[in-house]
Amino acid sequence: MKKKILVVEDNEDNRRILVYRLRKIGDFEIIEAQNGLEAIEMTEKHQPDLIFMDLKMPVMDGWEATKRIRVTEGGRRVAIIALTAQAMAGDEQKALAIGCDDYLAKPVVDPEMVREKVERLLKKYGPTLAAVH
Ligand SMILES: [Mg+2]
Repeated sequence: MKKKILVVEDNEDNRRILVYRLRKIGDFEIIEAQNGLEAIEMTEKHQPDLIFMDLKMPVMDGWEATKRIRVTEGGRRVAIIALTAQAMAGDEQKALAIGCDDYLAKPVVDPEMVREKVERLLKKYGPTLAAVH
């Protein structure tokens, strides 16, 4: 069964670059959302194995969305990688503190760094409910 990755990012160029990188890494099912509210809905509906979560987005930001996802049943066993802006010092540690597993600074330029994080975190939580049923 293909692993499912949700890419949450309001900037279309950034989203495309990350999706492009992920397609080179493996045969994943990739779904996309443009704000935190969409991310919550898609997480409930599709039960992704891994989420890339931009922190700064309209409608609902990644901080709020991550907190809300983490208190749901399925949201406790999904890996979340925060997408941080390099200019925002301190966001990395704050992201870990609210429940993200790791972070990735934008722009995402190093394919090997993405691969390492994806491969490590896909193993972290084991099979999802969707995979078990
Ligand atoms: Mg953004």
